[in-house]
Amino acid sequence: MFENLSERLSGVFDRLTKQGALSEEDVKTALREVRVALLEADVSLPVAREFVKKVQDQATGQAVTKSITPGQQVVKIVHDAMVDTLRGEEDPGALKIDNPPAPILMVGLQGSGKTTTTGKLAKRLKEKEGKKVLMASLDVYRPAAMDQLAVLGTQVGVDTLPIVPGQSPVDIAKRAKQQATLGGYDVYMLDTAGRLHIDEVLMNEVEQVRNVVDPRETLLVVDGLTGQVAVEVAEEFDAKVGISGVVLTRMDGDGRGGAALSMRAVTGKPIRFVGLGEKMDALETFEPDRIAGRILG
Ligand code: GDP
Repeated sequence: MFENLSERLSGVFDRLTKQGALSEEDVKTALREVRVALLEADVSLPVAREFVKKVQDQATGQAVTKSITPGQQVVKIVHDAMVDTLRGEEDPGALKIDNPPAPILMVGLQGSGKTTTTGKLAKRLKEKEGKKVLMASLDVYRPAAMDQLAVLGTQVGVDTLPIVPGQSPVDIAKRAKQQATLGGYDVYMLDTAGRLHIDEVLMNEVEQVRNVVDPRETLLVVDGLTGQVAVEVAEEFDAKVGISGVVLTRMDGDGRGGAALSMRAVTGKPIRFVGLGEKMDALETFEPDRIAGRILG
């Protein structure tokens, strides 16, 4: 196994005995290591290149502080540059849900964790913000998905729209809107159908639903372990239906979290939450600091 990036960087510098300022050569050597580590964390090549260039400009000529080693200093510069790249919204967890009932559209591929995340987010809105939430499944292809949402609703104490077989996603969306209005709900969350791959039918369906409810937030749920694929999925969803933010799931897994860095740099969309497990409270607001620490190892 490789040592982690922090150790590798320190190692490079421990071999150098130069004092004073970081020379261009020192920085170049270290940044080769950074680039390799980023690629290993599944950051895309253009993003890794651009990032390394940014750090190079910042690090060259910086005076070496006496209290820390040059290696530690470069680690800090790299860490700060990552946080800078990852930082999006000031408060990523603050959803635009004033003006009730506020629709939140949940989109993503099948298996990404969309239904689980819908339940987690509903629980969070209810418990942390005191919101009255209604959830509805629009997955007319998989009755099991509708049942799954109903089970989660019971588990977290959030209402779900009664299931009426034979309705189209648009019909269900309209019914959810009506129920949310009549029932005095603050928020209604629509869990759209996922598919294994992006296709026209899926996108058209999401588009039709979007046109009916005019969502305040359209959150894309993607599997953080799929790395660059997650970024491609986000680009496609954003181009076709427009997303307001991303939820990265399975960040409790072994992945290094490189998808987060690429996501921000490539799509320009903020990561709002990260999923950290299967349980209903395993959802956290996105913190750039934590992800940077994880990529650095
Ligand atoms: P959907 O098809 O996109 O709605 O996906 P599901 O919500 O049904 O999730 C698929 C599987 O992933 C389930 O077994 C979930 O428990 C699991 N899952 C969802 N989010 C996370 C997460 O953040 N971490 C882990 N470890 N598992 C997750």
